[in-house]
Amino acid sequence: MNLILFGPPGAGKGTQAEVLINKYKIVQISTGDMLREEVKLGTELGKAAKSIMDKGDLVSDEIIISMIEKRIIKPDCKNGFILDGFPRTLKQAIDLDNILNKLDIHIDKVIEIDVDEDVLLKRITKRALESKISRDDDNSEILKNRILVYKKDTLPVLEYYKNLNKLLSIDGMQNVEDVSKDIQKILT
Ligand code: AMP
Repeated sequence: MNLILFGPPGAGKGTQAEVLINKYKIVQISTGDMLREEVKLGTELGKAAKSIMDKGDLVSDEIIISMIEKRIIKPDCKNGFILDGFPRTLKQAIDLDNILNKLDIHIDKVIEIDVDEDVLLKRITKRALESKISRDDDNSEILKNRILVYKKDTLPVLEYYKNLNKLLSIDGMQNVEDVSKDIQKILT
């Protein structure tokens, strides 16, 4: 099963991905995690990405697509994968389709976790306070920019999948367990 988890920053994509990887024995592919790893390792890519990530802007489509292209062909993706935080632009969505077509792989479902802005701000502020591994982009000013970027660049991707009849929306304002239950309902 190949899925895309879709939603604004702080919607709970990471938490839900964790539930799904355990249940379906598939892997999570988070472009955010991959970029943070590059930053940690101090690679050229990481250095270039860090200042962009710290502002809450998007890393270039070329960098992201080339990372995904290499990751998706790894053997651990054979049983299925969850894309988390990708695609974030229309260009990424279209490029992803081209890559998957060549590999004869298909996305089964795109799941949108729908949460409103006030709830997001509260959640991310809490996450910043609680997180042991602090994220440089977890503060409310940067979050506001991330939400703006989401609306401008990423919402068109939702329309794209809606038109392809692949989009399913879940009420992300419920507690974690109920969001999980709703996701599993639509996957069975
Ligand atoms: P995330 O952990 O998914 O919230 O991503 C953290 C940051 O990494 C984002 O704010 C972007 O700067 C960058 N990033 C992650 N995924 C992408 C993507 N698909 N396209 C562009 N930038 C990304």
